[in-house]
Amino acid sequence: MGFDTTAVLERLAAFPRVPLAHLPTPLERLENLSARLGGPRIWVKRDDATGLAFGGNKARKLEFILADAQAQGADTVVTWAGIQSNWCRQTAAAAARLGMRAVLVLFHKPPFEGAVDGNLLLDRMLGAEVHIVPAEGRRTMAWEEVAEWVEPVVAAEEAAGRKVYIAPVGGSMPDGSMQEPWGALGYLEAWRELHEQAKERDVRFVTVVHATGSGATQAGLLVGARIMDPQTRIIGVSVSEDAATLGGWVRTIADRTLGLIGREEQVRKDEIDVRDTYVGAGYGHMSSEVAETLRLLASTEGLLLDPVYTGKAMTGLLDMVRQGEFAADSDVLFVHTGGTPALFPYRDDLGG
Ligand SMILES: *Cc1c(COP(=O)(O)O)cnc(C)c1O
Repeated sequence: MGFDTTAVLERLAAFPRVPLAHLPTPLERLENLSARLGGPRIWVKRDDATGLAFGGNKARKLEFILADAQAQGADTVVTWAGIQSNWCRQTAAAAARLGMRAVLVLFHKPPFEGAVDGNLLLDRMLGAEVHIVPAEGRRTMAWEEVAEWVEPVVAAEEAAGRKVYIAPVGGSMPDGSMQEPWGALGYLEAWRELHEQAKERDVRFVTVVHATGSGATQAGLLVGARIMDPQTRIIGVSVSEDAATLGGWVRTIADRTLGLIGREEQVRKDEIDVRDTYVGAGYGHMSSEVAETLRLLASTEGLLLDPVYTGKAMTGLLDMVRQGEFAADSDVLFVHTGGTPALFPYRDDLGG
């Protein structure tokens, strides 16, 4: 590695971080699936196995985000998302572990009305204070659309004498109390880990495919690849937004991340590859094709994906293989970002 990379890694290691995740996560081959497809060699980075209340990608983000919250003297984390949010569940678990309070504003729309199941059940068990509010077509990604519900919750906490840290949805876009892209830093660190594992296994990934939602996972991976493995392409399969919108978020977060680690460069637009063709009927809607993908991975590899994120991303990867996007003798990595607690609320769509 060049001097530049070493400087970046030293800088990365110096940021405040609280240990929450089980790391490194395993890097495994999906041999049965690869054989069935006739190549490429498909690998999986098991970030569903980060520990922290059933795992997932938010554990890596929270290591930096909650270190920031502690540095600010916060005793309470307020955040928001959809009712089956993995982000909120892992935030609740992390807060419990660090002796902090988690207050969650969860936006619901059918089919989850009233059912305490999946992530919502876990939020409650983890001791989070849960406010359930109707989404009514609101986009939880936009602060303007959630402020009406989140601001009074913050005010009530402050009136009760608590020091609040407002963590933005997904831990992605710097906003609220999180003024730096700490979530993306978690995925820059993940790339460092992956780079080491790939070196040990003597494998070079031509492409990495993963589910993208609020943008920081992709931004962190992108910055990591840019610095350590510039030949690797990162493809984010959108689970909700159109490619232009989400690509814009990824770009903003990636540039902020480069700034945070002292690099003056910015990412090029053509480095950002967001595919929005697998969104289907929208966020949280699982098509029968995605259900089929879940069953395929479960039955060929014993690997459980989730209905909202990784199921869509793997459906995308399988389609890209069919379209001939990867050479048969190449190595392609799928990042399993977690989300499996949401399997149970989708039992009807899964034919369970
Ligand atoms: C949040 C989440 C993602 C998306 O990560 P972002 O950084 O928000 O883009 C992917 N998969 C799962 C299971 C998630 O919970």
